[in-house]
Amino acid sequence: MSDPQQATKITLDESEIPRRWYNILADLPSPPPPVLHPGTLQPVGPDDLAPLFPMALILQEVSGERYVDIPEEVLDVYRLWRPSPLYRAHRLEKALGTPAKIFYKYEGVSPAGSHKPNTAVAQAFYNAQAGIRRLTTETGAGQWGTALAFACAQFGLDCEIWMVRASYDQKPYRKIMMETFGGVVHPSPSDLTVAGRAILAEHPDSTGSLGIAISEAVEVAAQDPQTNYALGSVLNHVLLHQTVIGQEAVAQFAQIGITPDLIVGCTGGGSNFAGLMFPFLRDKLAGRINPTIRAVEPASCPSLTRGVYAYDFGDTAGMTPLMKMHTLGHEFIPDPIHAGGLRYHGMSPLISHIYELGLMEAVSKTQRECFEAGVQFARTEGIVPAPEPTHALAACIEEALRCKESGESKVILTALCGHGHLDLAAYGAYLAGTLTDHELSTEEIQEYVSSLPNVPAPA
Ligand SMILES: *Cc1c(COP(=O)(O)O)cnc(C)c1O
Repeated sequence: MSDPQQATKITLDESEIPRRWYNILADLPSPPPPVLHPGTLQPVGPDDLAPLFPMALILQEVSGERYVDIPEEVLDVYRLWRPSPLYRAHRLEKALGTPAKIFYKYEGVSPAGSHKPNTAVAQAFYNAQAGIRRLTTETGAGQWGTALAFACAQFGLDCEIWMVRASYDQKPYRKIMMETFGGVVHPSPSDLTVAGRAILAEHPDSTGSLGIAISEAVEVAAQDPQTNYALGSVLNHVLLHQTVIGQEAVAQFAQIGITPDLIVGCTGGGSNFAGLMFPFLRDKLAGRINPTIRAVEPASCPSLTRGVYAYDFGDTAGMTPLMKMHTLGHEFIPDPIHAGGLRYHGMSPLISHIYELGLMEAVSKTQRECFEAGVQFARTEGIVPAPEPTHALAACIEEALRCKESGESKVILTALCGHGHLDLAAYGAYLAGTLTDHELSTEEIQEYVSSLPNVPAPA
């Protein structure tokens, strides 16, 4: 018999797709601070969110139930690619000469090539069920827009997408992919919205940001009762939907009889990282395992490691409710690095809270080190990673090399949350030696966070 721990690909049966999403809120020692209405500064209620989201998603956003049943219609679409494989990176380990065991849960097998359809399909389903005709959204690298366009096509919804200008120019094939799935794509800032026109009037050459694109998509959805808005990260219900990833990984590790010592993921808004790690954090909080949990963010957009923990808007124009989160300020416009999915000024309030509770740690990486890791991973494991998870890979390699020094055979698990087939121009720039590193100065950060809204501490 071969040793199961030596397996390269650990798979599950279709019948083992999780049938419930896991809600970490049920198990945290304290709840995160409430989301506030920007006008009254009082906690928002379901009615405040109703112009943008269907009630089923609003209820999931505030639910304290430990498990939420996944609708049959959603499971049916999940079956196209789930369960996703867990791989042991034998070839990368060998190249590094490390005694560490490196595993990656691969979400690039989905229709969009990333983890994003896990929530896109659920969101499109609940909106269609509520009688909504069209969804608007923003997209950074184009992964979320692609996922939502695919999901809307499954349930007969129209899909309109504001794509951050920097990515729109860098990644033309993403736009074509969204259009192929039936989406309508605008570069952001656009002249189609008040928010977009205001930015263009001041900065005609703006490369855009997720915050600006969110303002545009929210503005359009708020004006039409048949149109809702969908967010691809940050919110509790998004993180909830992503927990299919971690639940599968828990089952896959059980199959080979080991458990991770370190869980590493890249964080833009926090959803792929949360999706992988929440089910392990559940087991950590219950005292069954004790892995270190580490987020990796870009040095040019370091919300967790260098931002402030404060109430801020989710968008640039200041239309969304106020969320307490690690933020660089809603006016922050990051350098146009190639990891477009990691260019968000804030962090999920839930991840921010868990970070404040000391249940996880965070580090940052510059993009050349990340692409170096991505290229080494491609040459050994045969998958070209999206630029975002190369941040996690760089941190995995760093840890594996530490293990080589110390002789420790740590079990490392990472989220390989997407492939980079539509990010090849970024690899081209790296291989040609034209990629630059950018680290924010403390003065720049101070200036951006000085624009934070003034929210008095609760009495
Ligand atoms: C969107 C995206 C991210 C960033 O979003 P999270 O919510 O932090 O996961 C990271 N990687 C890929 C491949 C993405 O598409």
